[in-house]
Amino acid sequence: MAAKIHVLIVEDDELVRSLLDAFLRERGYRISAVGSGAAMRGVLAHESIDILLLDLGLPDEDGIALARQFRTVHQTPMMILTARSTRNDRIATLEIGADDYLVKPFDPQELALRISNLVARNRGSEVDGRAPAFAFGGFRFDVRNHALTDSSGKAVQLTPAEFSILAAFAKAPGRVLSRDFLLDAITRGGDAPGERVVDVVVGRLRKKMGDDPRNPSLIKTVTGFGYMLQADS
Ligand code: CA
Repeated sequence: MAAKIHVLIVEDDELVRSLLDAFLRERGYRISAVGSGAAMRGVLAHESIDILLLDLGLPDEDGIALARQFRTVHQTPMMILTARSTRNDRIATLEIGADDYLVKPFDPQELALRISNLVARNRGSEVDGRAPAFAFGGFRFDVRNHALTDSSGKAVQLTPAEFSILAAFAKAPGRVLSRDFLLDAITRGGDAPGERVVDVVVGRLRKKMGDDPRNPSLIKTVTGFGYMLQADS
């Protein structure tokens, strides 16, 4: 077996933190558990992690800002733990580049499941490899190796949600995919925050690929339905 999956838990509530720590440790994960943004940085400075579980309500820092900072530096899967449950808050957590979120109180079993899904997706092990490489607009998307490269061969970093959407397009070349279908690709039947999340992730992909959102040539909007990736013939 590969090395243990390293989970970084950032949660200031000591009880929740120690419960998560014990629960996940028991399931074979390696755990670093801290209670502040400062301590989180400390861990990240010295260790590589496979997934971040971040509580948004921390005493020393704004969780949203912390999550955004993390995302600008790391492509590692990030799951937000939040007490907030309004639709806008949930959209906000995904907008900052989180891959998933759970609203407290949550079922630890569900958390463990989502962690293993996210990590597996990030490692590309859930990709069936039907479309190992896919070319569009000068970009090359290598599904198996989880890599998007531009025309100069430069790697474009993808979050797991972005990867999942591109992988869904790669498996259905030239087909229009509904927002609902794409939402499923991102959330895998979890507590879906709404189809607008798909628009957010597509928006981020367009930005990364330099596609004009008002007149996109790579990922086309099919109004009222979904999106289509314009593949090279
Ligand atoms: Ca808290």
